[in-house]
Amino acid sequence: MRRLLKQIFIVSCCWLGVSSVSAQNGADSSTQPLHVVTSIPPLAGLVYPLLDEFDTLNVILDAGRSPHGFQLRPSHMRELQQADFLLMVGTSVDAWMQRTAERTDIPELRLFDAAQTDWLLRRESGGWDREHHHGHGHGHGHGHGHGLQAMARIDGHIWLDIQRATGWIGEISLALQQLRPERAADFQAREQQVVASLMAAQQAWSEQLAPFQDQPFVVMHDAYQYFELRFGLNAVGAVYMNPEVAPSVRRIQEIRDTLVAQGVVCVYQEPQFPTDRLRSVLRGMDVGLGKLDPLGADGVLIPYEAFYDRLVQAFIGCMRDGNNP
Ligand SMILES: [Zn+2]
Repeated sequence: MRRLLKQIFIVSCCWLGVSSVSAQNGADSSTQPLHVVTSIPPLAGLVYPLLDEFDTLNVILDAGRSPHGFQLRPSHMRELQQADFLLMVGTSVDAWMQRTAERTDIPELRLFDAAQTDWLLRRESGGWDREHHHGHGHGHGHGHGHGLQAMARIDGHIWLDIQRATGWIGEISLALQQLRPERAADFQAREQQVVASLMAAQQAWSEQLAPFQDQPFVVMHDAYQYFELRFGLNAVGAVYMNPEVAPSVRRIQEIRDTLVAQGVVCVYQEPQFPTDRLRSVLRGMDVGLGKLDPLGADGVLIPYEAFYDRLVQAFIGCMRDGNNP
């Protein structure tokens, strides 16, 4: 983990790396660059450790924006059309990119399709019961062929499932190997490193999170189900019932009641959502205010493992210290 953390890049406009070598100026095929475009930052974090410094990597979602309700502008379309490879979540979260990708013949990978297995359904209410939803909230995802309605019922934040994300590294590596067969050995070697490191990290996170498994907490919007389930955490509700609609005064009051009734330890805000009203509700209450970033919203691209570590440490920070500004 420490080695990867050193690779943090600060980039403007979400570009990683500079294409200093190109096939046109006589470079041999083993250094033919790839231009990869992803919908949201955590996916860039998945593919980034597999790439070379002469490859380029671009994220479509603007820094700090919520992907819910996001729309592509013509500049995004141009960026997308220049890609050699598109990496998308494949759920309702980045439907805005899938629609455009469908009109191109650029090779793509949708992570939702990469492992066809049980998925969690979105939670309909804003208050949750751990025992209940873990027992029954499973849906089946089977790729493109199924209707928008079925897809809309699935919790689309699948990149927060650490176990599946580890499995996707192999899928992404395979796609890169097909695009640049002459570089296959490099991709494979990096894939093995990244997977081994993620598996070790998951073990460490499990141990770090274990003491907080029963502590009730509230999140800003329902994005963390896959995180909660893997680590056995106890989310009891979300402030936003719908991430595209600001909570009503009545909803805020309900949350206040939940905080008291459930003995909530932490409320986690998010960089993508305004929190003024929430802060006023929490004033005078003995509840910690933390911050979770499910997207890597600050425009700084980091490897997925570092992104996930930040999420885990932010979670623990509030649980342990009561706040995490
Ligand atoms: Zn979300």
